[in-house]
Amino acid sequence: MRIVCPFCGERELGEFTYLGDAKPQRPAADAGEDAVYDYVYLRDNIAGVMSEHWYHGGGCRAWLKVTRNTLTHEITAVEPAAGAGAAKVGA
Ligand SMILES: [Zn+2]
Repeated sequence: MRIVCPFCGERELGEFTYLGDAKPQRPAADAGEDAVYDYVYLRDNIAGVMSEHWYHGGGCRAWLKVTRNTLTHEITAVEPAAGAGAAKVGA
């Protein structure tokens, strides 16, 4: 599997680290202990198209949001994760 980093171009999988499901959103500060537990520990195990976080540690060291089919490994989108320099793409 190869990932096309928006900053570095197409690179081999060994340069990246899988960080898991990109869907969970950090709960508000006053959301309570159960909401924080769910955010930190509970993840879906989707068989199909999933939005995931990957870290390009062997390249630009950016966090990426990758849309991947977990059954076929087909990647349909790669974009910088929020706060990872999205404004720099194409600059
Ligand atoms: Zn990169």
